[in-house]
Amino acid sequence: MKILILGINGFIGSNLSRSILESTNWKVSGLDLRQNNIKKMLSNKNLTFHLGDVNQEKEWVIHEILTSDVVIPLTAIATPMSYIKNPLSVFQSVFETNMYIIKECVRQKRRIIFPSTSEVYGMCDDLPFNEKNSQLVLGPIHKERWIYSCSKQLLDRVIWAYGKEGLPFTLFRPFNWIGHGQDSIYNPKKGGSRVIPQFLGNILRKEPLQLVDGGEQKRSFTDIKDGVNALIKIIRNDSGKANGKIFNIGNPKNNASIKEVANMLIHSLRAYPEYRDLVSNVKIETVPKEDFYGSGYQDVQQRIPDISDIQESLNWSPSIPLNKSIENITSYMIKNIDHKIFELPVTGY
Ligand code: UDP
Repeated sequence: MKILILGINGFIGSNLSRSILESTNWKVSGLDLRQNNIKKMLSNKNLTFHLGDVNQEKEWVIHEILTSDVVIPLTAIATPMSYIKNPLSVFQSVFETNMYIIKECVRQKRRIIFPSTSEVYGMCDDLPFNEKNSQLVLGPIHKERWIYSCSKQLLDRVIWAYGKEGLPFTLFRPFNWIGHGQDSIYNPKKGGSRVIPQFLGNILRKEPLQLVDGGEQKRSFTDIKDGVNALIKIIRNDSGKANGKIFNIGNPKNNASIKEVANMLIHSLRAYPEYRDLVSNVKIETVPKEDFYGSGYQDVQQRIPDISDIQESLNWSPSIPLNKSIENITSYMIKNIDHKIFELPVTGY
């Protein structure tokens, strides 16, 4: 089997390809603008890597779709701050780029495994969110946060419609996947990273942790290793059970508030004597959402996945508790830290 992964150096792409190369004999072909997260894999004989932009390298992409069994397009911008600050780039990179990949898969009759998102449920009140029954609830147009959700929702609908005409597909919806290789802790921009790398960067730069609107909002955090195991089962597709499906992939047992996550990160770092002073001085403060993100933001208060479909169809369940994921993330960070971060001036944030 040959799998094409577009955006292979990203958070999901790099973890997925590492796991495929370690645990199967499948061939992987990957494209990305960068290669820092996959450096150690580049010498693997089952991996072919092409450095470049998915929008510029169309000839390469079209040829690789032709010679692959499965296409997984993972190029994306996935931080809520960018939905608000750069809505048009989000639309272009999420909607327009993927449309051309989807149309190529249709033309070449190739199986596509496509990343939808837990964002599509928006501010739905259901607990948990179900793929077949939950409403997809977005705010008004001037709340730019929803452009990512809306772009992905339309792609879900397009893929679904092509599916009726014979396109083999599976859509998957990651619920707050976390782990190493996510956004950079060295990015000093407010909201430049998703919440865990954002808080870790804040701690290292001696900035306060800012809880948007008090941090009572909850997410079901899911270890990337659990997520990748689900993706491998989807790729394997035993008895065709992933065909034409939409699967939530998340860990409902890891439902925690952002405030709890902030405290878990501090607790986890306290275990390292050299970080004790740093964390004992960390301040946690509350900031109104408008001050943090601007007026284009609306938040999701609860986001719990119903995972019964993937449990029954593919015999997959998540197994890694949130405190274990946080321990792994902090220990990986400490082993690999670039000490220059401590030399940065205190910004006052
Ligand atoms: N958040 C926060 N402080 C930060 C960054 C994020 O309180 O410095 C909150 C954010 O408002 C949201 C949650 O943490 O409610 C998760 O944010 P993330 O960017 O990880 O992505 P989301 O789950 O909203 O897609």
